[in-house]
Amino acid sequence: MTVSTVPWQTEEEWSQVEVFFRGSMRAVVDSRGLTTAAQIIASRIADVDAELDRLCRLHCPSCDDICCVRATVWYDFRDLLFLYCLQEKLPSAQILSKTGKGCNHLGAQGCALPRVERPFVCTWYLCPAQRATIRWNGGERVSVDLISLLKKIQRQRRDLENRFFERVV
Ligand code: SF4
Ligand code: SF4
Repeated sequence: MTVSTVPWQTEEEWSQVEVFFRGSMRAVVDSRGLTTAAQIIASRIADVDAELDRLCRLHCPSCDDICCVRATVWYDFRDLLFLYCLQEKLPSAQILSKTGKGCNHLGAQGCALPRVERPFVCTWYLCPAQRATIRWNGGERVSVDLISLLKKIQRQRRDLENRFFERVV
């Protein structure tokens, strides 16, 4: 996707998304169950945080092809549903990327957002250098553990979305 086709970039579009979630969560059957599901996902994200930070500390400071500059990243529907269920509000705006400068949350020390507030793709993506380190340092078991945790989070996010659409009336 190019920067110009990222959804909900303007303030007006963003506030419409917020209105959608506010109205839907009022109409949803058992919104408390969705909140609990989002809290479980947040706890799984916390479980992978230390290992992913360790991999970043090893590789990112010397990287010459920074993924947060190269890639166009945005909040998709699942990201927003998860964050709304967790916090009862959306982030302040869509992620913005500028060609050549990258994501607007990228600072001198890396990402300025807590992991739980990042688009999930930022947690999901392991670059080749990180994958190689996982294999060398931890062997297959650690690699499989981290990757299986990430897959579990991915499944739980999909389930949350399915439950939302089943319960919205
Ligand atoms: S995650 Fe990999 S590609 Fe991205 S900045 Fe770090 S080392 Fe570079
Ligand atoms: S939100 Fe953070 S991790 Fe994701 S692209 Fe932006 S700076 Fe990188």
